[in-house]
Amino acid sequence: MSVIPYGRQDIDDTDIAAVVEILRSDWLTQGPTIARFEQAMADLCGARYAVAVSNATVALHLACRAVGLGSGDTLWTSPNTFVASANCALYCGAGVDFVDIDPGTLNMDPGALEQKLQQGGKPKVVIPVHFAGQSCEMEQIGALAAEHEFYVIEDASHAIGGRYRDSAVGACAHSDITVFSFHPVKIMTTAEGGLLLTNNEDLYKKLMLLRTHGITRNPEEMTKSSEGSWYYQMVDIGYNYRLTDIQAALGLSQAARVPAFVARRQELAARYRQAFATMPIGVQRESEGVLSAYHLFPIRIDPDRTGIDRKAVFERLKAAGIGVNVHYIPVHLQPVYERLGFARGQFPNAERYYDEAITLPLYYGLTEDQQDYIIDAVRQALNL
Ligand SMILES: *Cc1c(COP(=O)(O)O)cnc(C)c1O
Repeated sequence: MSVIPYGRQDIDDTDIAAVVEILRSDWLTQGPTIARFEQAMADLCGARYAVAVSNATVALHLACRAVGLGSGDTLWTSPNTFVASANCALYCGAGVDFVDIDPGTLNMDPGALEQKLQQGGKPKVVIPVHFAGQSCEMEQIGALAAEHEFYVIEDASHAIGGRYRDSAVGACAHSDITVFSFHPVKIMTTAEGGLLLTNNEDLYKKLMLLRTHGITRNPEEMTKSSEGSWYYQMVDIGYNYRLTDIQAALGLSQAARVPAFVARRQELAARYRQAFATMPIGVQRESEGVLSAYHLFPIRIDPDRTGIDRKAVFERLKAAGIGVNVHYIPVHLQPVYERLGFARGQFPNAERYYDEAITLPLYYGLTEDQQDYIIDAVRQALNL
């Protein structure tokens, strides 16, 4: 029996043809397909500017550099995320702190954020993470950002194709920058890949500069007049964080499929919700006015309700050929962060959620038969 993975890309013949076309063309990288991909993503999300990069981890780094995060500054994020959402602060020599999650939505709790700010906390950057594809309460976070003057970078690695109130995730209606990941387990893929969206022209220019070594060929950005048409200047310490045209072609083709990808994920999530409504299982609470893109479908196993713990259920599902996973080990409990002084007990909602969490398979190509098999295996694992 082959294992049903927890996530999987869907590559069709159109996607393949798009990549092959670029392989036969003049430009494998730094060609015209990058800009076409960026325009398509900006249009899809309703943002002014898009910058394609090698992955979401470097996108977060670039975003932090663009807003000027540095030593002496602090970045706050959710403990219930992948390590990259916090590591970007360390790359910049800045400090990190966390804001605990709401136990229902599993996203950064805006009330806890407000309290931490009232207690005198002064973050330069806050990174809300749209866990499992469901947007955070961005209106509240945006209002706090205006009052307390910090930048907001949305880590929307899970959430492309989702909506928050009147806008698409990525529109940056309540943030400075939004970041997406195109790793194959995410909603659409470029193999490796990431994207930044912003409505701020200055941030856009900084991101473009830093993506390519801090090098400019624009005479207006130079410290002295050009020495000839070969001339360029390095005016900041940047990186090579580029995406290739091969990847951009795959991204363009996949972007057109995002509405279908998300619609299918929402259908499958609704089937899971219906099945688990009659079992002693916790699921992520759906926020009002938010349409989740459903990157993940996490369930909670509370031994007080089930009489069996998460680990036992996890192992039973694995033995049944189901590629379950756990999202996330709270970032502050990773050794690097423990060495910075963090410890268990500081963010109890994220810790308790971690103790109970199992991520079930959810992806575009998952069949209803496979899903029924998974639901049945959960029922059996719980001795129901
Ligand atoms: C996947 C992920 C990242 C990192 O994405 P890469 O493209 O693999 O670098 C960052 N944050 C979150 C929340 C993620 O899920």
